[in-house]
Amino acid sequence: MTSNEMNATGIVNAVVVPHPPLIVPAVGRGQEAQITPTTVAYEKAARFVVDAKPDTVIVLSPHATMYGDYFHISPGAEASGDLRQFGAGQVRLRVTYDQELARHIGDAADRTGFPAGTQGERAPALDHATMVPLYFLNEAARGTLPFKLLRVGLSGLSYAMHYGLGQMMADAVAALGRRACVVASGDLSHYLQPSGPYGFRKEGPVYDQKVMDILGRAAFDELLALPEDLCEQAGECGQRSFVIMAGCLDGRAVQAQALSYQDVTGVGYGVCLFTPGARDDARQFLKKQEGNT
Ligand SMILES: [Zn+2]
Repeated sequence: MTSNEMNATGIVNAVVVPHPPLIVPAVGRGQEAQITPTTVAYEKAARFVVDAKPDTVIVLSPHATMYGDYFHISPGAEASGDLRQFGAGQVRLRVTYDQELARHIGDAADRTGFPAGTQGERAPALDHATMVPLYFLNEAARGTLPFKLLRVGLSGLSYAMHYGLGQMMADAVAALGRRACVVASGDLSHYLQPSGPYGFRKEGPVYDQKVMDILGRAAFDELLALPEDLCEQAGECGQRSFVIMAGCLDGRAVQAQALSYQDVTGVGYGVCLFTPGARDDARQFLKKQEGNT
């Protein structure tokens, strides 16, 4: 990375990561060995984020407070969480929220009538889809979290609305002169192995193969176009996280790298890195989609 890039503000990079609690050794107690390739890729993704020296990390979490018709952004000055629910209460993390960024996004949403903001919090503690990425970031940063956090939930709204939220967040990050990294937390299909906890459905591997191919090419137009019934039948968790992330990178050239994919536990785990570059109007995918209808 050149010093010029280090000084740049806005969204500086993004990652897609899964959130299986058992990948944390205190939870897995040896079981994590079956997903070692995912661990290795995850450590690389965490270093990628930490090395970018973000002011703020935006975690998109499928297991934060979620509404059918509203995107919830965690309010307040700070939060903490642990993995007690998974038998490892000693894995505990505390974060400081980027309140100014949360407020800026909420204000922008209010001005445009977009359904997003810090209202309606139901679960202040950090959820496991936030905790697992933070665990890796904390390890990569040698036991500190040298950035603020913005925790954003998904909604039952359309993919286009998720993408729009990403655009709005990228604008807010740029307006405040922040360096921000986006962590799109999400597992893939839950129906990949007959022996897995949820069994097998043919749509599972179909979705996983498609989404890993799409992410590996940063082909976010195709991500927006994935049929919702395929995603539903595949029992995916992270699709809408990935779509918000894509919105955060709207209108920019993106270099993508798919680092790993595993399905051994019956749930799909993908790790990908994204580096945005210069403006590229051909990649304004929502604008293009609207132009076509
Ligand atoms: Zn999940």
